[in-house]
Amino acid sequence: MEDCIFCKIINQEIPSKKVYEDDFVYAFMDVNPQAPTHFLVVPKEHISMLTEINDKNAAVIAKVYEAIAKIVKDFNINDGFRVVSNCGESAGQTVFHIHFHVLSGRDMTWPPG
Ligand code: AMP
Ligand code: ZN
Repeated sequence: MEDCIFCKIINQEIPSKKVYEDDFVYAFMDVNPQAPTHFLVVPKEHISMLTEINDKNAAVIAKVYEAIAKIVKDFNINDGFRVVSNCGESAGQTVFHIHFHVLSGRDMTWPPG
């Protein structure tokens, strides 16, 4: 997608602090962290949001979670973490390339704000 900031990050057209990459997934530190550790995990395939997941593309979402499991082990995140995917503007989604926030290093409240 031409005007998608996360596609540009995946294609190295915009710099990022990469934490993980494989054939399906790219992960990088969030530029505006909301916790001591805050990175984003995105499928390389452009899917705008959670409601666009379907039978044809759902396998990459499993790859995202597989990557998260690997990264939290590499980061030695043993004290808990939260995975968040905002879906739609009212839920706080600002970038319309599906992404999974991984937040750790502080106590998390429930319900989230
Ligand atoms: P959301 O509001 O759920 O769509 O999340 C978008 C996230 O992308 C926010 O947490 C931003 O801080 C983050 N973000 C936006 N641009 C960049 C960038 N160039 N590098 C890293 N993170 C970014
Ligand atoms: Zn994109």
